[in-house]
Amino acid sequence: MSGHLAVIGLGPGDARCVTPEASGELAAAQALYGYAPYLDRVPVRAGQTRHASDNREERARAAAALRHAALGARVAIVSGGDPGVFAMAAAVCEEIESGPEGWRAVDITIVPGVTAMLAVAARIGAPLGHDFCALSLSDNLKPWELIERRLDAAASAGFVIALYNPISRARPWQFSAAVERLRRHLPASTPVIFGRAVTRPGEQIDVVTLDRADTVAADMATLVIVGSRETRLIARPGKPPLVYTPRAAAEVSA
Ligand code: SAH
Repeated sequence: MSGHLAVIGLGPGDARCVTPEASGELAAAQALYGYAPYLDRVPVRAGQTRHASDNREERARAAAALRHAALGARVAIVSGGDPGVFAMAAAVCEEIESGPEGWRAVDITIVPGVTAMLAVAARIGAPLGHDFCALSLSDNLKPWELIERRLDAAASAGFVIALYNPISRARPWQFSAAVERLRRHLPASTPVIFGRAVTRPGEQIDVVTLDRADTVAADMATLVIVGSRETRLIARPGKPPLVYTPRAAAEVSA
Protein backbone atom coordinates (compact mmCIF):
# COMPACT_ATOMS: atom_id res chain seq x y z
CA MET A 1 0.00 0.00 0.00
CA SER A 2 1.55 3.31 -1.06
CA GLY A 3 -0.86 5.62 0.77
CA HIS A 4 -2.21 9.02 -0.08
CA LEU A 5 -1.36 12.52 1.09
CA ALA A 6 -3.63 15.50 0.34
CA VAL A 7 -2.19 18.97 0.94
CA ILE A 8 -5.26 21.13 1.40
CA GLY A 9 -5.79 24.89 1.26
CA LEU A 10 -8.48 26.10 3.68
CA GLY A 11 -8.72 29.63 2.27
CA PRO A 12 -8.40 32.83 4.32
CA GLY A 13 -10.74 31.86 7.18
CA ASP A 14 -14.45 31.94 6.37
CA ALA A 15 -15.88 28.43 5.92
CA ARG A 16 -17.64 29.66 2.76
CA CYS A 17 -14.21 30.09 1.15
CA VAL A 18 -13.35 26.39 1.59
CA THR A 19 -13.78 24.77 -1.81
CA PRO A 20 -15.98 21.69 -2.26
CA GLU A 21 -12.85 19.81 -3.36
CA ALA A 22 -11.11 20.70 -0.08
CA SER A 23 -14.17 19.65 1.96
CA GLY A 24 -14.27 16.32 0.13
CA GLU A 25 -10.59 15.59 0.81
CA LEU A 26 -10.95 16.62 4.46
CA ALA A 27 -13.90 14.27 4.90
CA ALA A 28 -12.06 11.37 3.26
CA ALA A 29 -8.89 11.64 5.40
CA GLN A 30 -8.13 9.15 8.17
CA ALA A 31 -5.58 11.50 9.77
CA LEU A 32 -5.24 15.30 9.73
CA TYR A 33 -1.97 17.18 10.25
CA GLY A 34 -1.53 20.92 10.61
CA TYR A 35 -0.84 24.03 12.66
CA ALA A 36 -3.40 23.96 15.50
CA PRO A 37 -5.42 27.10 14.57
CA TYR A 38 -5.88 25.77 11.03
CA LEU A 39 -6.92 22.32 12.28
CA ASP A 40 -9.47 24.06 14.51
CA ARG A 41 -11.25 25.25 11.37
CA VAL A 42 -11.85 21.69 10.17
CA PRO A 43 -15.14 20.03 11.26
CA VAL A 44 -14.52 17.13 13.64
CA ARG A 45 -15.33 13.67 12.24
CA ALA A 46 -15.51 10.44 14.17
CA GLY A 47 -12.66 8.03 13.48
CA GLN A 48 -10.31 10.71 12.20
CA THR A 49 -7.11 11.40 14.16
CA ARG A 50 -5.66 14.92 14.56
CA HIS A 51 -1.98 15.78 14.82
CA ALA A 52 -1.50 19.46 15.68
CA SER A 53 1.94 21.04 15.58
CA ASP A 54 3.58 24.41 16.02
CA ASN A 55 3.69 26.95 13.18
CA ARG A 56 7.45 26.73 12.75
CA GLU A 57 7.62 22.96 12.47
CA GLU A 58 6.69 22.73 8.80
CA ARG A 59 9.39 20.27 7.70
CA ALA A 60 8.81 17.99 10.71
CA ARG A 61 5.05 18.11 10.11
CA ALA A 62 5.47 17.26 6.43
CA ALA A 63 7.79 14.35 7.30
CA ALA A 64 5.37 13.01 9.93
CA ALA A 65 2.46 13.12 7.48
CA LEU A 66 4.52 11.41 4.75
CA ARG A 67 5.66 8.70 7.18
CA HIS A 68 2.03 8.10 8.13
CA ALA A 69 0.82 8.07 4.49
CA ALA A 70 3.63 5.72 3.47
CA LEU A 71 2.16 3.13 5.86
CA GLY A 72 -0.86 3.02 3.56
CA ALA A 73 -3.11 5.59 5.26
CA ARG A 74 -5.14 8.39 3.72
CA VAL A 75 -3.63 11.52 5.29
CA ALA A 76 -4.32 15.25 4.89
CA ILE A 77 -2.17 18.27 5.77
CA VAL A 78 -3.95 21.60 6.01
CA SER A 79 -2.66 25.10 5.19
CA GLY A 80 -4.32 28.50 5.46
CA GLY A 81 -5.07 30.12 2.09
CA ASP A 82 -3.44 28.17 -0.71
CA PRO A 83 -1.04 25.37 0.26
CA GLY A 84 1.36 26.32 -2.53
CA VAL A 85 1.80 29.95 -1.42
CA PHE A 86 4.42 30.20 1.36
CA ALA A 87 2.94 27.06 2.88
CA MET A 88 2.93 23.29 3.24
CA ALA A 89 2.98 22.06 -0.37
CA ALA A 90 6.60 23.14 -0.89
CA ALA A 91 7.58 21.71 2.51
CA VAL A 92 6.09 18.36 1.47
CA CYS A 93 8.01 18.46 -1.83
CA GLU A 94 11.25 19.27 0.04
CA GLU A 95 10.73 16.23 2.28
CA ILE A 96 9.91 13.95 -0.65
CA GLU A 97 13.03 15.09 -2.49
CA SER A 98 15.36 14.49 0.46
CA GLY A 99 13.49 11.66 2.21
CA PRO A 100 13.35 7.87 1.87
CA GLU A 101 12.73 6.42 -1.61
CA GLY A 102 9.39 4.97 -0.43
CA TRP A 103 7.89 8.47 -0.02
CA ARG A 104 8.02 8.94 -3.79
CA ALA A 105 5.42 6.17 -4.11
CA VAL A 106 2.86 8.07 -1.99
CA ASP A 107 0.00 9.55 -4.05
CA ILE A 108 0.02 13.32 -3.62
CA THR A 109 -3.00 15.59 -4.21
CA ILE A 110 -2.58 19.35 -3.79
CA VAL A 111 -5.93 21.08 -3.29
CA PRO A 112 -5.76 24.82 -4.07
CA GLY A 113 -7.35 27.44 -1.86
CA VAL A 114 -8.12 31.18 -1.93
CA THR A 115 -4.82 32.80 -1.06
CA ALA A 116 -4.72 35.90 1.17
CA MET A 117 -3.77 38.37 -1.56
CA LEU A 118 -6.84 37.42 -3.61
CA ALA A 119 -9.15 37.69 -0.59
CA VAL A 120 -7.73 41.13 0.31
CA ALA A 121 -7.80 42.38 -3.29
CA ALA A 122 -11.43 41.34 -3.66
CA ARG A 123 -12.42 43.42 -0.62
CA ILE A 124 -11.20 46.71 -2.10
CA GLY A 125 -11.54 46.59 -5.88
CA ALA A 126 -9.00 45.23 -8.33
CA PRO A 127 -5.48 46.20 -7.21
CA LEU A 128 -4.08 43.06 -8.89
CA GLY A 129 -5.76 43.90 -12.20
CA HIS A 130 -2.44 44.27 -14.01
CA ASP A 131 0.97 42.57 -13.54
CA PHE A 132 1.83 41.82 -9.92
CA CYS A 133 4.11 39.70 -7.78
CA ALA A 134 4.09 38.26 -4.28
CA LEU A 135 6.91 38.40 -1.75
CA SER A 136 7.22 37.07 1.78
CA LEU A 137 8.94 39.59 4.04
CA SER A 138 10.07 36.82 6.38
CA ASP A 139 13.82 36.49 6.46
CA ASN A 140 13.67 33.14 8.27
CA LEU A 141 14.39 31.27 5.05
CA LYS A 142 16.30 33.86 2.99
CA PRO A 143 18.68 36.74 3.73
CA TRP A 144 17.27 40.26 4.16
CA GLU A 145 19.58 41.55 1.39
CA LEU A 146 17.78 39.28 -1.09
CA ILE A 147 14.40 40.66 0.02
CA GLU A 148 15.68 44.22 -0.55
CA ARG A 149 16.95 43.29 -4.01
CA ARG A 150 13.57 41.81 -4.92
CA LEU A 151 11.68 44.84 -3.58
CA ASP A 152 13.90 47.11 -5.69
CA ALA A 153 13.41 44.96 -8.79
CA ALA A 154 9.65 44.55 -8.39
CA ALA A 155 8.91 48.21 -7.62
CA SER A 156 11.16 49.56 -10.37
CA ALA A 157 9.66 47.14 -12.92
CA GLY A 158 6.14 48.43 -12.24
CA PHE A 159 4.70 45.38 -10.47
CA VAL A 160 2.02 45.71 -7.84
CA ILE A 161 3.50 43.88 -4.83
CA ALA A 162 1.63 41.64 -2.39
CA LEU A 163 3.59 41.35 0.86
CA TYR A 164 2.97 38.21 2.92
CA ASN A 165 4.35 37.86 6.47
CA PRO A 166 4.93 41.62 6.80
CA ILE A 167 5.85 41.50 10.49
CA SER A 168 6.02 39.26 13.55
CA ARG A 169 7.27 39.49 17.12
CA ALA A 170 10.58 38.00 16.02
CA ARG A 171 10.82 40.38 13.01
CA PRO A 172 9.79 43.82 14.30
CA TRP A 173 11.72 46.13 11.92
CA GLN A 174 11.43 44.46 8.52
CA PHE A 175 8.16 46.04 7.42
CA SER A 176 9.34 49.63 8.03
CA ALA A 177 12.60 48.82 6.26
CA ALA A 178 10.65 47.48 3.27
CA VAL A 179 8.46 50.60 3.10
CA GLU A 180 11.58 52.76 3.25
CA ARG A 181 13.04 50.77 0.37
CA LEU A 182 9.89 51.05 -1.76
CA ARG A 183 9.86 54.85 -1.31
CA ARG A 184 13.05 54.99 -3.38
CA HIS A 185 11.08 53.80 -6.40
CA LEU A 186 7.45 54.85 -5.95
CA PRO A 187 5.67 58.19 -5.45
CA ALA A 188 4.49 59.15 -1.95
CA SER A 189 0.92 59.00 -3.27
CA THR A 190 1.07 55.27 -4.20
CA PRO A 191 -1.93 53.45 -2.63
CA VAL A 192 -1.07 50.81 -0.02
CA ILE A 193 -3.75 48.38 1.18
CA PHE A 194 -3.66 46.64 4.55
CA GLY A 195 -6.00 43.65 4.85
CA ARG A 196 -6.10 42.20 8.35
CA ALA A 197 -7.77 38.87 9.24
CA VAL A 198 -9.75 39.00 6.02
CA THR A 199 -12.98 36.93 6.11
CA ARG A 200 -12.38 36.27 9.83
CA PRO A 201 -13.84 37.98 12.92
CA GLY A 202 -12.01 41.30 13.40
CA GLU A 203 -11.40 41.83 9.69
CA GLN A 204 -10.02 45.26 8.90
CA ILE A 205 -9.15 46.94 5.60
CA ASP A 206 -7.14 50.18 5.52
CA VAL A 207 -5.94 52.14 2.52
CA VAL A 208 -3.20 54.74 2.98
CA THR A 209 -0.57 56.34 0.77
CA LEU A 210 3.00 55.08 0.73
CA ASP A 211 4.29 58.08 2.71
CA ARG A 212 2.05 56.95 5.62
CA ALA A 213 2.41 53.20 5.20
CA ASP A 214 4.62 52.70 8.25
CA THR A 215 2.03 54.38 10.51
CA VAL A 216 -0.44 51.49 10.10
CA ALA A 217 -0.11 48.68 12.62
CA ALA A 218 0.41 45.52 10.55
CA ASP A 219 0.59 42.16 12.30
CA MET A 220 1.02 38.49 11.42
CA ALA A 221 -2.56 38.30 10.13
CA THR A 222 -2.08 41.23 7.73
CA LEU A 223 -1.48 41.08 3.99
CA VAL A 224 -0.19 44.30 2.42
CA ILE A 225 -0.66 45.24 -1.23
CA VAL A 226 1.58 48.04 -2.49
CA GLY A 227 0.31 49.62 -5.69
CA SER A 228 2.31 50.50 -8.77
CA ARG A 229 2.48 53.91 -10.44
CA GLU A 230 -0.67 52.93 -12.32
CA THR A 231 -2.75 51.97 -9.26
CA ARG A 232 -5.48 54.47 -8.48
CA LEU A 233 -8.26 55.14 -6.02
CA ILE A 234 -11.87 55.99 -6.87
CA ALA A 235 -13.55 57.97 -4.09
CA ARG A 236 -17.28 57.24 -3.69
CA PRO A 237 -19.82 59.15 -1.60
CA GLY A 238 -20.83 57.18 1.49
CA LYS A 239 -18.93 54.08 0.39
CA PRO A 240 -15.36 52.89 0.78
CA PRO A 241 -13.07 53.77 -2.12
CA LEU A 242 -12.32 51.37 -4.93
CA VAL A 243 -8.62 50.77 -5.48
CA TYR A 244 -7.67 49.30 -8.82
CA THR A 245 -4.88 48.86 -11.30
CA PRO A 246 -6.02 49.36 -14.91
CA ARG A 247 -5.56 46.38 -17.22
CA ALA A 248 -3.41 48.35 -19.65
CA ALA A 249 -0.07 50.01 -18.93
CA ALA A 250 0.71 52.91 -21.22
CA GLU A 251 4.44 53.23 -20.81
CA VAL A 252 7.48 51.80 -19.08
CA SER A 253 7.11 52.96 -15.49
CA ALA A 254 9.91 53.86 -13.07
N1 SAH B 1 -0.69 29.97 2.46
C1 SAH B 1 -1.19 31.26 2.95
C2 SAH B 1 -0.05 32.22 3.29
C3 SAH B 1 0.82 31.77 4.44
S1 SAH B 1 1.97 33.00 4.92
C4 SAH B 1 -2.10 31.88 1.87
O1 SAH B 1 -2.10 31.38 0.73
O2 SAH B 1 -2.80 32.85 2.16
C5 SAH B 1 1.05 33.81 6.23
C6 SAH B 1 0.69 35.22 5.81
O3 SAH B 1 -0.46 35.19 4.95
C7 SAH B 1 0.28 36.16 6.93
O4 SAH B 1 1.41 36.73 7.59
C8 SAH B 1 -0.52 37.21 6.17
O5 SAH B 1 0.37 38.08 5.47
C9 SAH B 1 -1.22 36.35 5.12
N2 SAH B 1 -2.60 35.96 5.51
C10 SAH B 1 -3.06 34.71 5.68
N3 SAH B 1 -4.39 34.72 5.96
C11 SAH B 1 -4.79 36.02 5.94
C12 SAH B 1 -6.05 36.69 6.13
N4 SAH B 1 -7.18 36.01 6.41
N5 SAH B 1 -6.07 38.05 6.03
C13 SAH B 1 -4.94 38.73 5.75
N6 SAH B 1 -3.73 38.15 5.54
C14 SAH B 1 -3.65 36.82 5.65
